Amino acid sequence: MKKGLINDSVDLVIVLVAGWMAVFLLAVYYVPQLEHVRDEVFGRPAESQDTESIKEDELGKPEVAQDLSDPQQSETAAPEVATSSLVYRRDLAELGEEPVWEELDQVGAHVTVEEFLADLERYFVVGDRWQEFITRSPAGLLLKTDPLSSRELCLSESSSRYWRPKAEITTRTVEQPLAGVRIAIDPGHIGGKCAKMEERWFQIDESLPVMEGEMVLMVAQLLKPQLEALGAEVKLTRSENAPVGIQRTPHFMALAQAKIESYGWPQDRQIEQAQKMFYRTAEIRARSRLVNEVFQPDMAVALHFNAEAWGDPSDPQLTENNHFHILVNGAYTSGEVAQHDQRYEMIKRILEGTIHEEIALAECFVEAFKQETQLPAYHYEPNSKRAIQVDDEGYVWARNLLANRLFQCPVVFLEPYVMNSAEVHARAQEGDYVGERMVAGKMRKSIFREYADAIVRALTEYYGPE
Ligand SMILES: [Zn+2]
Repeated sequence: MKKGLINDSVDLVIVLVAGWMAVFLLAVYYVPQLEHVRDEVFGRPAESQDTESIKEDELGKPEVAQDLSDPQQSETAAPEVATSSLVYRRDLAELGEEPVWEELDQVGAHVTVEEFLADLERYFVVGDRWQEFITRSPAGLLLKTDPLSSRELCLSESSSRYWRPKAEITTRTVEQPLAGVRIAIDPGHIGGKCAKMEERWFQIDESLPVMEGEMVLMVAQLLKPQLEALGAEVKLTRSENAPVGIQRTPHFMALAQAKIESYGWPQDRQIEQAQKMFYRTAEIRARSRLVNEVFQPDMAVALHFNAEAWGDPSDPQLTENNHFHILVNGAYTSGEVAQHDQRYEMIKRILEGTIHEEIALAECFVEAFKQETQLPAYHYEPNSKRAIQVDDEGYVWARNLLANRLFQCPVVFLEPYVMNSAEVHARAQEGDYVGERMVAGKMRKSIFREYADAIVRALTEYYGPE
């Protein structure tokens, strides 16, 4: 009897303890405010919250939470970010996070210190502000990590990069020049219901509206099977005209408020800033997580159509200018070099030697686009603070854009065709078709097929037999 009582008490204590443990774990898992505890208990990095609802095995078809997949609906339905402790940090890129500088020691250096400094000055920086943050030291490089501290970077001999340069992809054959090459295609912008918000929409009278998001997705869908037929493994960052990330404008209202207060901007800019945080920043960050954490390609192609200022989108200005250029990552401004995360990402990119694969790829793209499109080169203004000319002719430029900085592989960022030129507008109106048609005074392929064919030609030339 006595013994039984003790046993019963022990059982009761065990049941109570187990019960409380279960309640605690469930609360930590499901209550959003306990996210920081959840990360410690379940070992989940806070940064990955955007990709959690995205199906990990299918880069092309992210599974987005149903109630958030409709931007119109989610403008009112999406939950807001907690507002109490929100601070807008001007020493980080928008929605950027403090880098973990210790991790640079694990980044394999594919360049010597001399090559690092040469690449830095030639391609990566505009001006000399970088000298405040990066100096030569007896052991390698001394990096300023915040206003008060510095750390020594010893160049590591290991290799951390996930992408492979051409020479390391040994599965390529004469019949299948892209066999085993992993290629990410990023159709730029979102399109669809976001096209007007992202200012990638215009319409002339009763003609079909021109939407960059739709146009690049059409190119991507024509391109994918062609590259696969040549042996490539191809993934699209998006396969419909909808966002990949799960956050929408309402998530960013509090941060946008903090930003306009930080800069002393008028209150009426809050919504515009929150929208930009959604479509211009969070969306690209969500795609970069797919590229870097899920697919890890050997190279990425970012698809865009260029445009010149068109003014009122419902009464746009047409231009006679038509041209093309290609962007590689570089030309960090003084302000960008001073931001901790941007400087970290730049240093990592230089260490991994990405620029050299990028330029070699870009050269093949230049030749292919010249042959397919006959478009002339575009030139930035002389002594531009945001662009560095890379090739002699002015087809390849270095610029620091979010996608070509955050995708941690060689990125060929394409800007062919001026959408509001009379010629491209006429070609866009024809839509996609097989063969050639008389358009704007000349027999031409559909503009979408011409674009895709140029990319196939470039990649075949680059990865094909010598
Ligand atoms: Zn674009």
